[in-house]
Amino acid sequence: VKRRRLLAGSTLATLAAATGPGWAQSPASAMFDAVDLAAAERLREAALADREAARLLPELCTQVGARAAGTPGDAKAVAWAQAALARLKLARVRAEPVPVRAWLRGPASARLTAPVTEPLVMAALGNSVGTPAGGIEAEVAWYPDFAALRAESNGERARGRIVIVDQKTERTRDGRGYGAAVVARVLGAVEAARRGAVAYGVRSIGTNTERIAHTGLMRYEIGVPRIPAFALSVPDAERIAALQAAGGTALKLELVMDNRTDVEATTHNVIAELPGTGPLAHEIVLVSAHLDSWDLGQGAQDDGAGVAIVSAAAALIGRLGLQPRRTVRVVLFGNEENGFDGARVYGDRYGAEPHQWVGESDFGAGRVWQMRSRVNPAALPLVQQMAGMLAPLGVAWPEQGANEGTPGPDAAVLMRRFRWPALQLSQDGSTYFDVHHTVHDTLDRVDLTTLPQNVACWAVTAWLAAQSPLSFTPAPS
Ligand SMILES: [Zn+2]
Repeated sequence: VKRRRLLAGSTLATLAAATGPGWAQSPASAMFDAVDLAAAERLREAALADREAARLLPELCTQVGARAAGTPGDAKAVAWAQAALARLKLARVRAEPVPVRAWLRGPASARLTAPVTEPLVMAALGNSVGTPAGGIEAEVAWYPDFAALRAESNGERARGRIVIVDQKTERTRDGRGYGAAVVARVLGAVEAARRGAVAYGVRSIGTNTERIAHTGLMRYEIGVPRIPAFALSVPDAERIAALQAAGGTALKLELVMDNRTDVEATTHNVIAELPGTGPLAHEIVLVSAHLDSWDLGQGAQDDGAGVAIVSAAAALIGRLGLQPRRTVRVVLFGNEENGFDGARVYGDRYGAEPHQWVGESDFGAGRVWQMRSRVNPAALPLVQQMAGMLAPLGVAWPEQGANEGTPGPDAAVLMRRFRWPALQLSQDGSTYFDVHHTVHDTLDRVDLTTLPQNVACWAVTAWLAAQSPLSFTPAPS
């Protein structure tokens, strides 16, 4: 009876009708308290008027800027984040050490030496070794994409050459294009080295056509020679493709890179909390971003935006005087970019604590357009109510009950390791890969007006996850 009264005349009735008979029969205890829902509405409206994220991001970009793990910029970011979270009146602000093997970029250049002599715009890939001091000069073995390199079982074409892979990245809203292409950057050097190549160059994994190169993580494999790896700007990759297509004299390329790899260093996860009250206070609602960035830009969209969004969202809950049942924990992870060390260390330390769910904002500054979850199916009616709260913000819940969300990179590491439930708030990434991992990832290219909508989504979902009458565990694997 109580449930019928709750549903009548509210948007919940519409939501319940949309879910089908299975969910409509959920017990009343599986619905949010009306008081908590009203608070969520207040949070949503307050977030839309809140300018905190739009203050935090310029501050991080201006006062800190680039902050690759293990660099002085990184240490500055850790200090900045602690001060910022304390200023936001979050509790238990702390920096927890994360040992890393840092990669330090040195000078790098590449040029064509045949059939023409021309400098190329490029960037070393993260983790890549340097070249011998005098550089490497070799003929080019060109492949239209990574699949073509992989398909070549006879290694004679690549042997002794510099492999160039012209892998293109498709522009998509949800990052699918990047997801399909990035393997060429991460694993290309291993595949090229297996076939005897002396260096590996990949067309930048990105969607822009400006003459800038996109860096990013690459990996070596034990037992496979560690060859230097770099990315070419898209116009330079196209220039090489055109020369290749023209035929005639073989292309030759000279590469000089001087990086330092495996430098022992320490970074930190920066953590702050809005403490829970009552018997569920030991359960954690984790909202996260990563504090480190690549070294080329200011890490404005990757992931300064995420840092600003989740910090502002947690702070807003406190500022409205709301006391969550579960603890809302903000985690700004160290060294996401070069190996997820912060996520690993967090898991080692907090793996035994029950996590209600984990989420991470790490897809630039675009608007949230979709929400997905991965929770105990019994909790799906609650997720549906949360989705109803986000609907006025233009957020869809299109895969009702599909329940296969992925919560951002560090959070996904933790979700897989501990089977923690997860929240995915998908941002529009249509233009994200124009600037991602480049010199263009700077404040001037961020639309700050989209941040409040993000803050609203994170504040509402974090709050309701903390208030949920049901545990979201166990999540489906
Ligand atoms: Zn990122």
